[in-house]
Amino acid sequence: MQLIILGPPGVGKGTQSQLIAQNLHLIHLSTGEILRNNVDKKTHLGLQAKLVMENGKLVSDDIMIGMIRDELSKPEMNKGFILDGFPRTLEQAKALDNIFTDLKFDDVKIINLVVSEEEIIKRLMARGRQDDSLETVKHRLSVYREQTAPVKSYYLQKFIVFDINGEGSIEEINNSILHVLTRVNVKEFK
Ligand code: AMP
Repeated sequence: MQLIILGPPGVGKGTQSQLIAQNLHLIHLSTGEILRNNVDKKTHLGLQAKLVMENGKLVSDDIMIGMIRDELSKPEMNKGFILDGFPRTLEQAKALDNIFTDLKFDDVKIINLVVSEEEIIKRLMARGRQDDSLETVKHRLSVYREQTAPVKSYYLQKFIVFDINGEGSIEEINNSILHVLTRVNVKEFK
């Protein structure tokens, strides 16, 4: 299964992706994590990405698409994966289609986590990550509305998109996701 998790920053994509990866034995691929590792290690990519991330902007499509193509080309990805934080623009979504075609990945499912904007600002401010100042958070949300939200409409034309209520306990949300993905009693996964 190739799973894509969509939703605004702070909606819980990272937490839910980790759980789903464990539940369904998928590889969790978070572009934000990969970038943060590069920033910590001060790699060339990390040095390029640092300021962009601190300002709540998006790293360029070229860099991100190259990164995802490299990651998805690894042999272990055949086991299935969950993409968290990618695609974030229409251009990335279109490039991902080509990557999926080239690599013959054809069991794509999309989860869209939905949470009110008020709740998102509350959660992001509580998280306290380096790129979580109020100004940056607001900028990230406007980038999301302008550049990332259209990705959902694009996917609606091609795939089934499961809207999941992202408010509630971590476990409740996890169960809702497992339910739509597997259509079986979630208790079997415990
Ligand atoms: P995240 O951990 O997904 O919230 O990502 C943290 C930051 O990394 C974002 O605010 C962007 O600056 C950058 N980033 C992560 N994924 C992408 C992507 N697919 N395209 C562009 N920038 C990204």
